Amino acid sequence: MAIPKSEEKAFKERFEEYTQTLDCVHCGLCIPDCPTQGITGRESDSPRGRIYLMRGYAEESIPFTPESLKHLDQCIVCRNCETVCPSGIQMGEMMETFRHEMNRTLPHKGWKHHFMKLMLNHVVPSRAKIAFLLDLLYYYDRFKLRKILVGVGSKFSKKLKKMDRLFPPIPKPSERRLATSASIPQGLYPSTQGKARMKVGLFLGCITSELFVETHRSTIRMLNRSGCDVYVPDSQTCCGALHRHGGFIDEAHRLYEGNVSAFEESGVDVIIVNAAGCGAALKEPPSSLPDGLGRPVRDICEFLEEIGIPEPDQKISRKVAYDQPCHLVHGQKVPASAVLSLLEQVPGLEIVPLRNSERCCGSGGIYNLLHPEMAEPILDEKVEDILDSGADTIVTGNPGCWMQIRSGLLDKDIEVLHPVDLLDQAYGA
Ligand code: SF4
Ligand code: SF4
Repeated sequence: MAIPKSEEKAFKERFEEYTQTLDCVHCGLCIPDCPTQGITGRESDSPRGRIYLMRGYAEESIPFTPESLKHLDQCIVCRNCETVCPSGIQMGEMMETFRHEMNRTLPHKGWKHHFMKLMLNHVVPSRAKIAFLLDLLYYYDRFKLRKILVGVGSKFSKKLKKMDRLFPPIPKPSERRLATSASIPQGLYPSTQGKARMKVGLFLGCITSELFVETHRSTIRMLNRSGCDVYVPDSQTCCGALHRHGGFIDEAHRLYEGNVSAFEESGVDVIIVNAAGCGAALKEPPSSLPDGLGRPVRDICEFLEEIGIPEPDQKISRKVAYDQPCHLVHGQKVPASAVLSLLEQVPGLEIVPLRNSERCCGSGGIYNLLHPEMAEPILDEKVEDILDSGADTIVTGNPGCWMQIRSGLLDKDIEVLHPVDLLDQAYGA
């Protein structure tokens, strides 16, 4: 039944994406692909149930309780439902707007909300503050404080030990600073193939700018040996993906604008991103910036597959399976073939299939920290699929997925790598 225009306007005032909720035809095709519904078995933890709740909130047709909010909060925003839905629902957009609405209107938000707001708005956008925090964590680890605190703390809270497994070893401060345009001549890492065929910009990210610097180095080397000059602007900032997940839309827009300025004068042809979550956020600009970053944004594997790589000269004897990050396959719509066709060029690599490789691992930005009771069983399913694949190496192109999957495999003899790190090894790096 059509909604009278006057009523629709009122509903949209309560929830801006209200009209999108009407696209759901309740077919239920999305239900088997929703990881949270798979865990609780409840309709309200499925895409269809969540759309019904958001619509009910806008229409004020169902009593909106903390329990309803919990089901919406439990959405990982993995966007698997977007891939399978025949009506083209946009769960990512709906969920971001809904959470923004809740942040704006809910009177009591709890300590998690305030802590997240503090970290997201005052720490994450600053690479200098992240570097300082990681320096502290490095020394905390180095002087065995981590071992002592986790040992004592886990007697009181089992969660602490599980959370600790998520954090990888932190490299020395001197080893995790990538030289940027402020510190390298002309701000360029030049092509190693003579005259460059293209100048590309590298997006560093927030935590990834320090914690995954080896992957940035592999990315630069792969781009250089594929004939690209790589420019790394120093003034770039966080992509805002975590802010959008949490409904902090205004701050996400400000960060996006900061990145527009950082890349504006660079003269690069393409912006390269090696973290799937950041790539999805940068490819989908806020509506106030319809031109986005002013040049195309590409995932590193998507780009290398497009331009072609030189023939690898090193044999790598590994049995590899590829786990697809949700924000690469469902967010950016980059198929597994883009990554696999690169890996297939490496001599000696045996590529084995991974069951449910397009299904979420439970990472979801910081979802695994906020909802460990949901993220853990989702990770257990992923680990079971990995073990059944027989692989000794898992590749995945998103730092959050890397940390989550690695934490599930810590006591197994299986390495987790970014695809570009594995590719880089095929040239002797
Ligand atoms: S697949 Fe799409 S239309 Fe069908 S129930 Fe799920 S969200 Fe609604
Ligand atoms: S985004 Fe993921 S967790 Fe959320 S409803 Fe869709 S499939 Fe389920």
